[in-house]
Parts: sequence; structure tokens; C-alpha cells
Amino acid sequence: MVQRNPFEEIMRSRQIFRNREFLRHTYVPDRLLHRDEQVRQLARILAAPLRGETPSNILVYGKPGTGKTATVRYVGRELEAASAGAPLRTSVVYLNCEIVNTHYRVLASLAEGLLERMNNGPNRTDLPRIPKTGWPVDEVYRTLLKILEMEGGLHVVVLDEIDKLVRRDGGDVLYSLTRMNLELRKAKTCLIGISNNLNFMDLLDARVRSSLGGEEVIFPPYNAKQLSDILEERASMSFCDGVVADGVIPLCAAYAAREHGDARRALDLLRVAGETAEAEGAEQVTVEHVRKAHERLEQDHMVEIIRTLPLQSKLVLLAVSLLAQRRPRPVISGEVYECYRDVCHRTGMEPLTRRRVSDLISELDLLGIIDAKIVNKGRYGRTKEVKLNVHPLQVQAVIQEDAMLAAPASDLLTIPLR
Ligand code: ADP
Ligand code: MG
Repeated sequence: MVQRNPFEEIMRSRQIFRNREFLRHTYVPDRLLHRDEQVRQLARILAAPLRGETPSNILVYGKPGTGKTATVRYVGRELEAASAGAPLRTSVVYLNCEIVNTHYRVLASLAEGLLERMNNGPNRTDLPRIPKTGWPVDEVYRTLLKILEMEGGLHVVVLDEIDKLVRRDGGDVLYSLTRMNLELRKAKTCLIGISNNLNFMDLLDARVRSSLGGEEVIFPPYNAKQLSDILEERASMSFCDGVVADGVIPLCAAYAAREHGDARRALDLLRVAGETAEAEGAEQVTVEHVRKAHERLEQDHMVEIIRTLPLQSKLVLLAVSLLAQRRPRPVISGEVYECYRDVCHRTGMEPLTRRRVSDLISELDLLGIIDAKIVNKGRYGRTKEVKLNVHPLQVQAVIQEDAMLAAPASDLLTIPLR
């Protein structure tokens, strides 16, 4: 047989993506659709420095994927451009508090960012670099103030995922940040906090709350039509011409609209559908690829939920998966309990009562990981029938990652069934 050149084969098959980078979450689009109202509100508040005034602090709220990060970054970029010749020079610094998540690191990375910018410009300084750890927090704070005074102008500090900061550090860093303007003379700061969680303000000190919540901008979920528009625009940049079949974009939008109008989910669906088509060597991305993408993302989502379950729930789920793997019929709660007890025995855990395990089964049902329904079964009386919604091997793989499980993985999987 003649061996064909593998590259030739790939080159001959139709290309699906022009550039898939445009489908990533981190891409900030040049044009934001359906966010005119939020852009206007932010611009109205942030226009203050163009007139030489300090703007109020702002809190931005909305569910995940409603465009908060993209919109704030977009407005920040426009503000920097517009303030070039304004009385108060303005710079925007962006921090993701999921990553930069302690008092020390927030202050240090702000200071470091400013230092780096200064040292690249005309205001070179010989201030020492701030180490990653080791200084007293107060010294980092004083250094940050010093740098701000040397720089002057207005510094807009965007704290994305600000709720993560409060949970981790109790909000001390927010207290420091909201007090900076009282100590600064030549420079001013303005904070923009972004949060998915509407209740996080309850956790804050009253003084921080009133300072931070000076202005609020709310991001409502997108509807299916709006998501379609956003996807159309991205699709035209990321896919080759004519590759996306009719119905693909509306279906991605419909799935994502059902999930609290999440643009990120919509983009993920479109990207994974494209990748599925590519892997199959298909000519086009079709609604069938979107359905497959939806299924895959649902599975990934389940795996994430399983990973964060409390240990006892994991053990119950492990028991269900061991039974499901070896039995073609649905398992019943009595069997689950027996198997769970064996699992506990193997892992050196104290088993919970039947009653508690039954509650945990109901919780797993609510999370959608299993379906549990009550049935009448002759000699067992009324019992629950349990069906697993994730592949048993996948469940086992995730649960075995748990460091709390003392028994070696292979041990757990050889539990004999009664
Ligand atoms: P959030 O911060 O609210 O969770 P993001 O701003 O990260 O949401 O948006 C998620 C994804 O959707 C990003 O890739 C973003 O570029 C895109 N996106 C969101 N809203 C819009 C919009 N109005 N126009 C274009 N793209 C958008
Ligand atoms: Mg965000």
C-alpha cells in the first residue's frame, strides 16, 4: 500500500477555524453588543477625571458570563485613551482577585505594576522592588502610597472577582484601599469592584461598604436573541466562511439562555462544537455537533461538582458508581447503603446512619448527579431507585483524587459486592 503524506491529508480536509482565539474568555472584543446602558453608566461615573474630579467607587454586579469583565476592561481602555490630554491623567490597573487574593499580594502587585510603568517612563525611581512575601503589610502599603504620590494623577483600580478577596482575607485589604484617598495629596484612586455574588457586601465592614458601594452598575442576564448577536459577531471572526451551518448559533444561544444567559457558556458551546466537527473531519459545524458539545460540557460541569463534594457524599457516590458499573439494572438505596458501609470500612471512615445516607442521596439527586425516585419493591417495601447520570469510571477517577481517602485507589475498586 502506498503511504500518503499525512500533512497532505490534513491540508485537503476542510478547515473549520480561521482563528479560535476569538472564542476564548479572555478576548476583549472591540465592540460590545447589548451593553450600551452599562457602558453609559460606567462612562458617566468615570468621566469625572476628564473634568479634573475624582470619581466615586463603583460596584459592578451580575451573574457569570453577563459581560462584566469585558465591559469594564473595554470602558477602562476607552477612558485611558480619552484622558490623554485631560486635567487629571488617568491610568487603569486591573487585578483578578481570584489569583491575587491576599492583602499583601494586592498591595504589592499594585505597587509593582506602577513601579514597572514608572521605570519604563521618564519618572525613573530608585525605590526598592517589593518582594513576593516578607515585608510587613504596612510597609507595602506605605510604599504604594509613596509611589502613587510620585506618579500623581488618577489611578482606577479594577478588582475583578472582589468577593473572593473578602472571603479569603476578611476584607482588610478593601479597608486599606478605600482609605488611600484620605492620605494621598497629589494622586487619587478610584475602585471598581466586580462581583458575581450579590450578597458579598453583607460580609463587609460598614465603612468599607458605604465607600465601595458609592455607585452600582447591574448586569442583567442576556436573552437568547442577544446571545445570538454576540455569537454571530464572534463566529464571523473565528470560523472560515460557510462552515457554520444554519441553526448552530441559535441552538448555542438557546442552551446558554437557559443557563442564566451566560455568554461564556454560549461561546464555549460554539468552540467545542467547532472542535468536535474538526476532530470528526466534518465539512461543517452542525446542530448535531452543538448537541454533542452540550453533552460534553454538562459532563465536565458534573465532574467539577463531584470534585467539590464533601467526603461523605463522595463515598456514597462511589458506592453508587461501583454498583452501577456491575449491574445492568437500576440500583436501590438498600444496596447503596451496604456498599457504602464497605467503602467506609476500606477507607477507615466511620459510616453514617441509613437516615443520613438517604439525605445525602437526595442531595446528590438535587445536584443532578444521580436521579433518585421512590418505588415500591415487594420485600424491600418503599425504597429509592438510583440512576447515575455520569459514567461510573469517570466518577471513580474524580473521587480517587481526594487526598482524604487513605486507601489506595485500586483497593476501593475491588470491593466485593454482596
Ligand atoms: P463576566 O465577567 O460577567 O463573567 P465576561 O465579561 O468574562 O463575563 O464575558 C464572557 C465572555 O463573553 C467573554 O469572552 C466576553 O468577551 C464575551 N462577551 C460578554 N458580553 C459580551 C458582549 N456584550 N459583546 C461581545 N462579547 C461579550
Ligand atoms: Mg468576569
